[in-house]
Amino acid sequence: MEEAKHFINNRWVAPSVGETIPVVDPSDGQIFAQIARGTAADIDRAVTAARAAYEGPWGAMSAAERGRILARLSMLIGACHEEIAQIEARDTGKPLKQARADATGIARYFEFYAGAADKLHGETLPYQSGFTVLTIREPHGVTGHIVPWNYPLQIFGRSVGAALATGNACVAKPAEDACLSLLRIAELAAEAGLPEGALNIVTGYGHEAGAALARHPGIDHISFTGSPATGAAVTKMAADNHIPVTLELGGKSPQIVFADADFDAALPVLVAAIVQNAGQTCSAGSRVLIERAAYEPLMERLAQAFAALKVGPSTLDLDCGPLISAKQQQRVWDFLSDAQHDGIAMAAQGEVVAEAPEAGFYQAPTLLRDVPPTHRLAREEVFGPVLAAMPFDDEADALRLANGTDYGLVAGIWTRDGARQMRLARRVRSGQVFINNYGAGGGIELPFGGVKHSGHGREKGFEALYGFTTLKTIAIKHG
Ligand code: NAD
Repeated sequence: MEEAKHFINNRWVAPSVGETIPVVDPSDGQIFAQIARGTAADIDRAVTAARAAYEGPWGAMSAAERGRILARLSMLIGACHEEIAQIEARDTGKPLKQARADATGIARYFEFYAGAADKLHGETLPYQSGFTVLTIREPHGVTGHIVPWNYPLQIFGRSVGAALATGNACVAKPAEDACLSLLRIAELAAEAGLPEGALNIVTGYGHEAGAALARHPGIDHISFTGSPATGAAVTKMAADNHIPVTLELGGKSPQIVFADADFDAALPVLVAAIVQNAGQTCSAGSRVLIERAAYEPLMERLAQAFAALKVGPSTLDLDCGPLISAKQQQRVWDFLSDAQHDGIAMAAQGEVVAEAPEAGFYQAPTLLRDVPPTHRLAREEVFGPVLAAMPFDDEADALRLANGTDYGLVAGIWTRDGARQMRLARRVRSGQVFINNYGAGGGIELPFGGVKHSGHGREKGFEALYGFTTLKTIAIKHG
């Protein structure tokens, strides 16, 4: 991997402006690498390369051969698993075990989509007599992928894996805060036999390289994961070129716990769903709604669990690592100072260990109680290890609270009552519902995406293949 370069046409390419962006280790706040500062000229070069691949060897390749290349890539990632996990841990600050899980996740995405590549097919349709009508699924062409910093490996894997499997040529713009692991993956993709131009990575700032990608007229589809505001900006840019957009914009996902739930099973999951990746998870379970009869006993157990959590550098591999940046840390502090100002009680807080460097971006996991449903802590995405707890009176109240935000990504329902499980699962407004479990970010095979401000379109699972293709209808008159 060559420092401070883009990966275009299977080669390392210096940035056209000759400038770099420093990369900071969130665990100690120190600069440890440089990435290339991409501009519109670099994006243009990458899109041109992708177009040539799509109209050339990559576009001509059979689905089975595409699948074989993706399978080889998955195996190469497996062979470099520890190296990739180490890069990811340093770049994002996440504990090593989480980075290892992410490295396993991306290998699994390419494995899944390798197997799916030659399983996607169209249909024959009944029509007028003397006709045969069929549908075929075709790739969009050149797809753009704007990737955030919280799970670079996983989010790149789910989006680029499905796009390549269906025959698109890709240009990815990872986040300026964390992109090193993806440059290594691109290098491995070339080694796996991906033809020149099929996968290109341009690093750089969002307003510069990201915006240049979103508005490039040579892009046929764009997938974006990140904040609702940037998602809206990307959509407006894409609208000028009339291209489809897949958006995944985070959430304020509720975990609804009834008094009859198995608390022993629920407790570790409720904690992990907000502490994982220091709460910087789009599908984090960031609200816990608890039936009033069980509120105090469960809050007591949650408080004990939060107080026992340890936070430190990625290398110590504790419960929680630092936040990604000083900017993100300030954002979380602002939410917590609002909570304090508005009299919201802190039920418990974990501990930042003494070995954590002063200049790292640490935040102790925080449990807040009796958060008013109208408060921004109950409605907005903190994107930090902050869990907002609130009681509810009955099923209708639980549903009203669960659906009472602008978001709708994931919901967790904890109850032993089977009829209630299904009633709520059908009425809660979210893209995924977990009953007596919760999969923050998990489930390669499971279609994933939101409703309302959480976005639209689905990634992961077989469903993603439909999003990365367009349907063509062919009507043949044969008499
Ligand atoms: P962001 O949405 O601005 O950045 C996400 C990606 O978009 C990055 O690759 C970035 O470079 C790119 N980008 C930024 N501006 C762009 C533009 N004008 N055109 C095209 N691409 C652009 O998110 P952020 O500023 O890094 O984080 C702010 C908040 O967003 C976080 O606190 C969190 O609440 C939310 N967020 C959500 C997710 C998620 O997984 N849903 C991921 C990251 C951030």
